[in-house]
Amino acid sequence: MSSPYLNSQKIKTQALALGFLSCGISKATFLEEEAPKLEQWLKEKRHGTMEYMVNHFDKRLDPKKLVPGAKSVVSLLYNYYTDQKQKDPLAPKISTYAFGEDYHQVIKRKLKDLMAFIYKEIGAVEGRIFVDSAPVMDKAWAAKSGLGWVGKNTNLISKKVGSFFFIAELIIDLELVEDGPVTDHCGSCTACIDACPTDALIAPYQIDGSRCISYLTIELRESIPTEFKGKMDGWAFGCDICQAVCPWNRFAQPNTETAFTPSDEFLSMKAEEWTELTEDIFEQLFSNTPLNRAKWSGLTRNIKFLKE
Ligand code: SF4
Ligand code: SF4
Repeated sequence: MSSPYLNSQKIKTQALALGFLSCGISKATFLEEEAPKLEQWLKEKRHGTMEYMVNHFDKRLDPKKLVPGAKSVVSLLYNYYTDQKQKDPLAPKISTYAFGEDYHQVIKRKLKDLMAFIYKEIGAVEGRIFVDSAPVMDKAWAAKSGLGWVGKNTNLISKKVGSFFFIAELIIDLELVEDGPVTDHCGSCTACIDACPTDALIAPYQIDGSRCISYLTIELRESIPTEFKGKMDGWAFGCDICQAVCPWNRFAQPNTETAFTPSDEFLSMKAEEWTELTEDIFEQLFSNTPLNRAKWSGLTRNIKFLKE
């Protein structure tokens, strides 16, 4: 095997060739700084009904509990930004990340390709791939590896490309060279906090997940609490506001992933077509997209809530 430095370079070059925006590396050590913050966040019930956040507390903080013998965490960003928009301004709004095919599948394929490359070019490395699917603190790892900083809106922000990207990881038992974190460039800006319609950003760098429109429209299985009536700003699946107002997103460039190209049928849907959306049409249009997480029942509940 070649040196950790050369191996790190090879992995980063291949990641870019596979279409990732960027790739950074951290040592696979216990997340000391994040542990008390996560504990406090859970204690304050900021996770709402997302019980999966409580489970696997130790695994979430210690990569060696996910991959025995882990030495490195390779963080990767994958662009989902598009300048295409839903055509009817009165249509219920869908978060940009959900415009195309389910990202889990798309990015998993890329991660598998990257693992195969490592096997071939470096050796029999053991590890696992992760894309928003297991207890991995993806933003913390990406920040540790210098891909950006966690901004006041609690998203990872990159000076080069903003924040409209997915975060994925490889946790592997290969020694690599770690990249250090970058500095915070939020400065005195508070645009995200000021724009959040549900006051989910309770303080700089702190989110009450249970108040976030993404949680209310995607994760929450029960009825949306009435206190949010009139505060959803038309969002029926997710919410882009605190990213859209972030000045760093002026550097976001449209993605080139064909699987994320939104269909014309979806972009052209009029407000009344969303209101009349049947389960059959939902299946035809959205069964292979992130909207499937809310299912037809969740999406139609959200649309109804916006109109009540
Ligand atoms: S996604 Fe929307 S609701 Fe959630 S914190 Fe950002 S602006 Fe607020
Ligand atoms: S909107 Fe301003 S404060 Fe919020 S994350 Fe972006 S730069 Fe930071």
